[in-house]
Amino acid sequence: MFGARARILSAVIFAIVSSMVLQPVNATQPDCQRCVAFRLDDIQDFYYSNEQRAIIEMFRQNNASVTIGIIGSMFGNDTELVDFVRQYRNDSRIEIANHGWLHEDFGLLEDAASQQELLEGTNQRIHDLLGHDVLITTFIAPFNSVNDHTYEAVANSGLYIISADPVRDTIFANDQTSSSPLYHLPMTAEVSILTENQTAWEPVPVIEILSKIDDSIVANGNAVVMLHPWDNIENVQSVIAHIKDKSDYKIVTLKEMAFGQNEVPEGLNAAILALTLGGVVTAGLLFRSKRMSS
Ligand SMILES: [Zn+2]
Repeated sequence: MFGARARILSAVIFAIVSSMVLQPVNATQPDCQRCVAFRLDDIQDFYYSNEQRAIIEMFRQNNASVTIGIIGSMFGNDTELVDFVRQYRNDSRIEIANHGWLHEDFGLLEDAASQQELLEGTNQRIHDLLGHDVLITTFIAPFNSVNDHTYEAVANSGLYIISADPVRDTIFANDQTSSSPLYHLPMTAEVSILTENQTAWEPVPVIEILSKIDDSIVANGNAVVMLHPWDNIENVQSVIAHIKDKSDYKIVTLKEMAFGQNEVPEGLNAAILALTLGGVVTAGLLFRSKRMSS
């Protein structure tokens, strides 16, 4: 009896997914050539307060896009920051992304369920504070650290894009031909770098940042630049200016890098992931939880 039900459910899900798939999903690398995304990590309450706002304003003044990573449990008490971010919630140049619940090291979490719980906590916090119509598509991994469970957790949390370390993201590093349901857009350049003893951040010279961006464009077609609120704002501005000088480069958000101007397809990835896992029952649950949460 269960077998028959499972087969019917499987057929129904396959039909739904087939109708949703308008183009092949090999989402590891997007079709955004010479695209550069800036990723501002560690947005949180009472933390480099002036710098956080100044750097986001600088991007706006330069008409350049930026993706900001919010740490869920550390966002909400600083009303000045919340109000500041809220005013740009519908600004297409500012993408609001998930940067973990407590800035956990996801690479150390041994199962997908616990990772999913943290991701959904932050999604919820962002929606509660900034509005439920804010479309969150991107997980910026704290410490750029992920493991094989993270892919499932990210997809099950309704997210589409994972931005981590290019080596620790093993699908990006080793398996780009896989039909991962996610876009894998790792950090490939950084504005400052952790010292060897991991105690301080040292600024990277602008010329080196630009060369890393060029290298990544050659290798991947795109580049993702990590920055933090404490980074030297003049250096960031200088990098933006140099990129803008190259007329064939385009500054985008991570979401735009993955989807361009297209609408993000709701529910697609969770469905495909469930199918690839071969879990018919899981798929049914995913569909249910998707509907309940939306
Ligand atoms: Zn961080």
